Amino acid sequence: MADELLRASGLESGYGGVQVLWGADIAVAAGETVVLLGANGAGKTTLLRVLMGLMPAWRGTITLDGAAVTHETTDQRVRRGVAYMSELGVFPDMTIADNLRIGSRFAPRAARAAAIDALYARFPDLAGKRRSLAGSLSGGQRKMLGIAKALAGRPRLLVMDEPSAGLSPLYVAEVLAVLGRFRAEGLALLIAEQNVAFLDLADRVCTLERGRTVFTGTTAELHANDALERAYFGLT
Ligand code: ATP
Repeated sequence: MADELLRASGLESGYGGVQVLWGADIAVAAGETVVLLGANGAGKTTLLRVLMGLMPAWRGTITLDGAAVTHETTDQRVRRGVAYMSELGVFPDMTIADNLRIGSRFAPRAARAAAIDALYARFPDLAGKRRSLAGSLSGGQRKMLGIAKALAGRPRLLVMDEPSAGLSPLYVAEVLAVLGRFRAEGLALLIAEQNVAFLDLADRVCTLERGRTVFTGTTAELHANDALERAYFGLT
């Protein structure tokens, strides 16, 4: 793959004695958007956590820019330009400014203030509330703060776990629009979702079933596959 940023092959992992990933493969090129689809419990969150080093890979390999990072810490991976936004995404007991400061900690020191100012310019709702607690924001604004916090470290790849979770369709559309703008500026995205609206952003789609990658291709190729079309779009 040209300009390969992230690649994971044959990942296996789980919790205690319970294996959840049974051979997950995923790759993201520079500037590419990959949507990871899968039903509840398919292992999407687990896969993202293993990619970020928040859980160990029992088997398999992970590379960033071609370098093996399978045994690197989360911090080391973040320093290589990957940011992670969990479903929660922010620290509710901290101010918006402090959330962004934490998000920027892996950017070069001299670039941090400028990175945060640039984000306030992009998210004016947050700029007006910098001393407010993140927990006082609406669900939609909190999601925007989660995105801003992840981007404050100036990543090249943003890994997101279900950005649509808990959001009304209106806010989902807003999140999609915001992500679309950063995507157009060259940010690579890996988004685990159940909401097929996110396919509008996707250059490629991966589907995970019971901890295995069963399909990788374009959205058009997904639509052309009858079984997957039925599984993800509920068509009969
Ligand atoms: P969801 O959309 O519901 O988050 P998912 O595809 O992200 O689903 P995971 O959260 O990765 O799936 O969960 C995969 C499996 O691992 C599920 O069977 C789940 O019950 C199990 N699991 C998740 N977290 C833990 C945990 N901390 N301890 C034990 N089992 C867990």
